[in-house]
Amino acid sequence: MNSSYNYERCAVILAGGYGTRLRDAGFDLPKPMVPIDGKPVLEHQIELCKQYGFKQIYIITHHQSEKIKEYLNDGKRWDVSICYLEEAVAKGTAGALAEFIHHLPDQFILLYGDTYLNVNLSRMFDFHLSNSSVATIMVHPNNHPSDSDIIEIDEKTNLVKNLSPYPHENEKPLRNCVNAALYCINRKKIKRYLVQGLFSDIAKHTFPKIIDAGENILSYKTFEYIKDMGTPERLIKVQSDIKINIPQKLSFSKKRVAVFLDRDGTINTECGLITNLNQLELINDAALSIKRLNDAGLLVFCVTNQPVIARGDITEQELNRIHAKLDTELGLQGAYLDELFFCPHHPDKGYPGEVANLKIKCSCRKPEPGLILSAMNKYNLSESSYFIGDTTTDIFAAQKAGITSILLSTGYAGKDGKVAVSPDYKCNTLTDAVDLILKREGA
Ligand SMILES: [Zn+2]
Repeated sequence: MNSSYNYERCAVILAGGYGTRLRDAGFDLPKPMVPIDGKPVLEHQIELCKQYGFKQIYIITHHQSEKIKEYLNDGKRWDVSICYLEEAVAKGTAGALAEFIHHLPDQFILLYGDTYLNVNLSRMFDFHLSNSSVATIMVHPNNHPSDSDIIEIDEKTNLVKNLSPYPHENEKPLRNCVNAALYCINRKKIKRYLVQGLFSDIAKHTFPKIIDAGENILSYKTFEYIKDMGTPERLIKVQSDIKINIPQKLSFSKKRVAVFLDRDGTINTECGLITNLNQLELINDAALSIKRLNDAGLLVFCVTNQPVIARGDITEQELNRIHAKLDTELGLQGAYLDELFFCPHHPDKGYPGEVANLKIKCSCRKPEPGLILSAMNKYNLSESSYFIGDTTTDIFAAQKAGITSILLSTGYAGKDGKVAVSPDYKCNTLTDAVDLILKREGA
């Protein structure tokens, strides 16, 4: 237990959903009562809350409240205490929160009753409490960013800069950073942004108001499992993920296997330094290969040297736009990178237009393993992780980081001549490398 914060761990669950799309598929149940792996999704949530010490639980109900109450009762069976708040008229997620805000504790974690999740709730709650934001939003990449609510964040401060709810207005490519529908809320701070009696939505109405007022919302990035199961297709997907243990595989509490990928020559075609997003073109099998890793519950990271920043060729904002295009192209084929790490440095000084403070000999430019090592530490990754790349610098960095290296015949095909090194494996294509990894992982 974290004793530095004087807040009881309380959870609020929005369980008023009708589940219309599931009802059409034959479930005559309120959405949170739809069974997954033998028990209602709401019961899975209660167990998760209990596991992380959130023993005071408020459930906001509306549709078929009695079925929920009858099943969960006062919560004693799960060693938690449940308080029901029943909405007479459904007014959306923010409308429901507005109606009952005075009954809720000062700080709480907010779950949507139609999500199946295996997230370390106390880790997120502590992150929220250690900052003084109005709210904290869990964000993650997903396999359908084009029809998701995108959150634009400042990667250095974790602050939310902008919300781009679906449908997206313009064709501007966005990074794949999606609202996962799990929030921590500061009751006193959010109160003034909630309007009682009107239909409103937290993500679409309340959060934008907070940002417009210049107050802080934080993002909390994690790759743990969370999925909504509000349609028959999504329900089937969650059930099949459970069957192959994906929610456990992605859990923060155990070491996870990651596949690191180089960028140019591995994911996109090698064409020298890329300074314009039109130069970025996916290699044919890149998206499908990455999707296979995503589907198997392996984390996928990209590690790339970007001396274009130190050279002053492009700014970090421009590089971010190039990576937004990469995210978008992968997303259109249902694939995603969990995160992309880049080294902005370059060691040789003395060129016109360069950014002097980035012209250093750093520990993150491949062949140095700095970016890989920091990712391994930050995300609790296993030493049986992999690196796939097309240059000797990729292979050298992988070996220095102590993970398995795979050299491809795409891009430079190892003929860059930078370091004398030999890889653990050689594969012709990314597809072959992914075949090899999935076989070794038994996936
Ligand atoms: Zn660096």
